[in-house]
Amino acid sequence: MDIQKVMVIGAGQMGSGIAQICAMGGYDVILHDLKEEFVHKGLAVIDKNLSRSVEKGKLTEREKNDTLGRLLPSIDLKNAAEADLIIEAAVENMEVKTKLFNDLDQIAPEHAILASNTSSLPITEIAAATTRPEKVIGMHFMNPVPVMKLVEIIRGLATAEEVYKSIEQMAKSLDKVPVEVNDFPGFVSNRILMPMINEAIYTLYEGVASKESIDDVMKLGMNHPMGPLTLADFIGLDTCLYIMETLHEGFGDDKYRPCPLLRKYVKAGWLGKKSGRGFYVYN
Ligand code: NAD
Repeated sequence: MDIQKVMVIGAGQMGSGIAQICAMGGYDVILHDLKEEFVHKGLAVIDKNLSRSVEKGKLTEREKNDTLGRLLPSIDLKNAAEADLIIEAAVENMEVKTKLFNDLDQIAPEHAILASNTSSLPITEIAAATTRPEKVIGMHFMNPVPVMKLVEIIRGLATAEEVYKSIEQMAKSLDKVPVEVNDFPGFVSNRILMPMINEAIYTLYEGVASKESIDDVMKLGMNHPMGPLTLADFIGLDTCLYIMETLHEGFGDDKYRPCPLLRKYVKAGWLGKKSGRGFYVYN
């Protein structure tokens, strides 16, 4: 399938990154969010990232301007009527996603593929909210999107082979490495990563060590580029909690019980780097 125009839903940390690499890859991109200020915040992040690449000599000023020129802001979901591929990167919440997919199904052209960047939610269930489950697929980018090579591609129960192939090809065109995964809670990445982060939070909660010590042990002892509590702050503590809840509910196993401290921080609005405070404080 020929993909030329991509619509990205959600201009947060993931959506803006996805929009950036799609525009850099030569696709026309509609960047959509609920409010103009959210879209402009996403576009400002992209502008900053591209300017940094120009400073480092990785991009020319002209390439930067061409990339920005391919990005179109949107707060009207009806713009989906123009898209060949829609990549949803709104909050990690099944109700929000199924409502969006139901609406998009009615607006998007018949040939359009509807992809979700969900970290953990079942693609098959999201697909069931549409009349085109064969065209629904998981396209799970990693954070920060412009840097990380992996894209987990998740087949729902009904995902068509040609749709899988188009998305695999599209991921390669963005200079990413697609890895095929089946539809189980948390897929591969977050089934392994998130219980480790949750355990690090329990380790803090039970007073085994300070946050700095926990992060140092994993950085220096396991050679992780950043500690699990810092990583949780980067991912967003609300997203971490949603993922743990999905694993807990999806497997019905208490080994995935979210740590009460994680719940407490999310209730306090301490969502990590994006809100200025999580396990650490950010400017
Ligand atoms: P974020 O909070 O930074 O951004 C979410 C954006 O979606 C916000 O701008 C919000 O206004 C917008 N939004 C919410 N409801 C919407 C709707 N109905 N229509 C349009 N926009 C809407 O979150 P994020 O970290 O970018 O995560 C987005 C998705 O990507 C989630 O599903 C998350 O699980 C997934 N994901 C996150 C990471 C990560 O490290 N943060 C990694 C991979 C995948």
